[in-house]
Amino acid sequence: MFENILPLYGLNSEETTVNLFGDGLINHTWKVTAGKQSYILQKVNTDVFKNPENIDKNLCLLKDFLSKKDPDYLFVSPVSALSGESLLHTPDGHFRLSPFVEGSLSLNALTKKEEAYEAAKQFGKFSSLLADFDAEKLNITIPDFHNLSLRYEQFKTACANANPERMEKAKVYVNFINDHHDLVDTYLSIVANKEVPLRVIHHDTKISNVLFDKDYKGICVIDLDTVMPGYFISDVGDMMRTYLCAATEEETDLSKISIRKEFFKAVYDGYMSEMKEVLTNTEKQYFTYAGKFIIYMQAIRFLADYLQNDVYYGAKYEDHNFNRAINQITLLKEYIKIEKELTAPLSSSTVPHSQPHGQ
Ligand code: ATP
Ligand code: MG
Ligand code: MG
Repeated sequence: MFENILPLYGLNSEETTVNLFGDGLINHTWKVTAGKQSYILQKVNTDVFKNPENIDKNLCLLKDFLSKKDPDYLFVSPVSALSGESLLHTPDGHFRLSPFVEGSLSLNALTKKEEAYEAAKQFGKFSSLLADFDAEKLNITIPDFHNLSLRYEQFKTACANANPERMEKAKVYVNFINDHHDLVDTYLSIVANKEVPLRVIHHDTKISNVLFDKDYKGICVIDLDTVMPGYFISDVGDMMRTYLCAATEEETDLSKISIRKEFFKAVYDGYMSEMKEVLTNTEKQYFTYAGKFIIYMQAIRFLADYLQNDVYYGAKYEDHNFNRAINQITLLKEYIKIEKELTAPLSSSTVPHSQPHGQ
């Protein structure tokens, strides 16, 4: 396969080495080394991204904008093939080749709050540099990805058509989701509020999507497939969901699910170090809500999938999605329990202790 792809970039496949690289779950990723120059070659997952050209067009628009806005910003995007195209549609699939960021490393878990700060700063910097870019020019790469209202409707449909045994077992958790429907109402009020603008949002702020240098300083964000118009609560919320707890969504020992308060502060400080002047006062009021928004949405998605016999996520064992849903519900409960404490150390002028609309 590589002997067909690499020459399209002017690389001699006999003088290059190609190795599988990283721990990405969505695309196939290889490191390609040609003499002193290294690249990341990716085969785009077209089951997830039905129209990979949409990603490619987005990256071209952003590259053009950022090269003028801040020529020093490291925007890692695909290089052009000899044909001039930055996405190649070949019989083996859709491929792209990006420069390898030398001296970089990525993390799969967060052990230090300083790493959370650095990551949040990089995601903040990305949206901040693009604050003047008209987000609506971007293509939607996954429709309704973070549309909580739609996810809730899908959950209701899943409940109506649920496997009866699974429904019986999950009843208490289904009730929990329904009892917290006010989180959907808040989402709807955010979407309707002109003071919460659509921005260029990354939408996949897990820690492995930030490159660090050897001193664990952030270099840049990567994995730009889900960059599209959205609300800042998506990026902040997914950082809360994935950075605050030392255990992952796979953990079944619920006693290990707790919130590292100092990591909340680190995410806040890192993100705000870049976004303080960009976010509206109204957006700032939803900073803490962001965590609830994304954790709740993930709980809904796991539970809905469990009720529908694991058709979407699949399952490595019988109760896999059930356990993941309970994990996320536990995380949400922990978050809500200490919400006021999380917000208290932050400046009262930027983050009020209670959400607007009493949520
Ligand atoms: P995910 O499961 O997060 O969606 P993915 O399959 O979309 O991942 P990427 O995140 O784009 O894949 O890349 C996988 C890994 O490869 C990254 O976590 C990082 O370690 C490494 N990587 C990607 N691009 C580069 C780059 N330009 N320079 C150095 N390393 C990179
Ligand atoms: Mg990734
Ligand atoms: Mg990805």
